[in-house]
Amino acid sequence: MEIKEAVKFLKKYTDDEVYTCKCLTSHSMAISALEKQISMKPVFVHPLQFDDCGDYMCSSCQKGSVLDPYGNKPDYCHYCGQKLDWSDL
Ligand SMILES: [Zn+2]
Repeated sequence: MEIKEAVKFLKKYTDDEVYTCKCLTSHSMAISALEKQISMKPVFVHPLQFDDCGDYMCSSCQKGSVLDPYGNKPDYCHYCGQKLDWSDL
């Protein structure tokens, strides 16, 4: 099963008139954890003062910079664990 398919399935089980608070909490935790594995493109923020490669913010948690101290592009956001998609960037 694809991650996106699992997320879509789990979102069907978030009706608070049908499910208990514990169910809703565990479903939303599972959805959030799965969504972190679907890669998202970082957002370009502004050029760095002494470097022309630019700076990037995580589009999931809105925190930046997601570049490591050496300017490398990590596979995951070090703030929230979001998988990052650097293709075409
Ligand atoms: Zn993040």
